[in-house]
Amino acid sequence: MPITTEILTVGDELLRGDLNDTNSTWLAARLFGMGIPVRRIVSLGDDLEPLSGAIEQAIHRGGLVVITGGLGPTDDDRTTCAVARAAKVPLELSNTTLETLRARFASAGYPFTPNNEKQARFPRGAMEIKNSRGTAPGFLLRVGDARVVCLPGVPSEMKAMFDDGVVPLLAQDEAHPAAVRVVRTFGVGESQIDHRLQGLLEAIDADPSEVSLHYRTSFPENQVLLVVRGVADPGATLERFEEEVRRRLSPYVFGVGDVSFSDAVVGALKEAGAKVALAESCTGGLAGDLVTRASGSSSVFELGVVTYSNACKHRMLGVPEEVLEQYGAVSSQCVEAMARGVRDLAKSTYGVAISGVAGPTGGTPEKPVGTVWFGLAHPDGVSHLVRRFPWVHDRQRIKQASAHVALYLVLAHLRDGTDPFEGRWEPGKGGRS
Ligand code: ATP
Ligand code: MG
Repeated sequence: MPITTEILTVGDELLRGDLNDTNSTWLAARLFGMGIPVRRIVSLGDDLEPLSGAIEQAIHRGGLVVITGGLGPTDDDRTTCAVARAAKVPLELSNTTLETLRARFASAGYPFTPNNEKQARFPRGAMEIKNSRGTAPGFLLRVGDARVVCLPGVPSEMKAMFDDGVVPLLAQDEAHPAAVRVVRTFGVGESQIDHRLQGLLEAIDADPSEVSLHYRTSFPENQVLLVVRGVADPGATLERFEEEVRRRLSPYVFGVGDVSFSDAVVGALKEAGAKVALAESCTGGLAGDLVTRASGSSSVFELGVVTYSNACKHRMLGVPEEVLEQYGAVSSQCVEAMARGVRDLAKSTYGVAISGVAGPTGGTPEKPVGTVWFGLAHPDGVSHLVRRFPWVHDRQRIKQASAHVALYLVLAHLRDGTDPFEGRWEPGKGGRS
């Protein structure tokens, strides 16, 4: 059975609307990824009474309770005290934690004021969760059927402590921890995915009491998740799942597991020993940002230019003036010339160009908002593609989706034969070559 899980985030700033509760969304996604669905998310202020009351109720419901915030040294940090009250145990000073805290302050050259001692007090029976990035340690306390995990509010500390300190403890408690596999796609909508994956569980011979299928959108990517619970060896089921999803969604799958889109593109370029250069117009450098998110991109990314004006498209990339006059900057002729130009400049394997109408103004009947042209110069020639993003009305989203398409052109070319844009290439002069 999946554990019942609740997340409590603590702090007056949350209730005043001063702070976005990103801790709970991050934790919920993390727990879901571990096959532990979250049943409830609650935010509370710093007042002791309502806080300990809410924790007591959560303990009463049993399962896992993850709390963030209010562990600091100041008077308004009351979470530890509230947990002790709710669990009906006293607070106890941990001498080892106290010594560690003192040593940390000394080595950083900060005075150790008495209020810092508070961070070395834990409810009796609690197990400390170390904080390598800050001063406030967290803790785990078992109360009957419930396990209460307390972490600091600062997101970077909370995340590191959850992954390094809490995940191993949770795994210890599970006879068969849930296993999850994520297949990442781009260029295919959620309804299409759902349609293509109809009957998938039956096809991989999965027992519906042990296995569930989920969809998740992280714009502009769509992900398919398989969660296997309570099984001694989930490996074979996950393998069958991945194989079947790849078969059904083949050209759209860019990675599996912890691989980001940028990792996939940079990894494929590295493997092929190829390099890329980018000439961007409407994306304003976003494709360059996307490729450089992957560490190690320096070995495959040669040059990125943002040529926004026609004059610069001509002067820097050699786009003929006649092309700009006759067809305009948002045209197959222009992106092909840009792609060739940037490839020649960088002497790279690939040159990719983007030029479009991101809106909300500037659309015409022939080139409505959301019309974006892409050029791909490669060792054997030049190709172009036009994409119209009819469902995407937001300028930033059109830019984001376009940056992804541009890099996907490279990925598809490297993969040889799997083309997510099959049938969408504009026919005619200069089409796919
Ligand atoms: P500290 O020792 O730093 O005070 P703490 O456990 O007491 O840690 P809080 O004082 O509650 O944590 O929060 C510290 C900071 O962490 C907040 O000012 C805020 O920037 C961030 N923070 C707290 N809770 C959240 C949350 N739920 N989502 C996002 N950020 C948060
Ligand atoms: Mg604080």
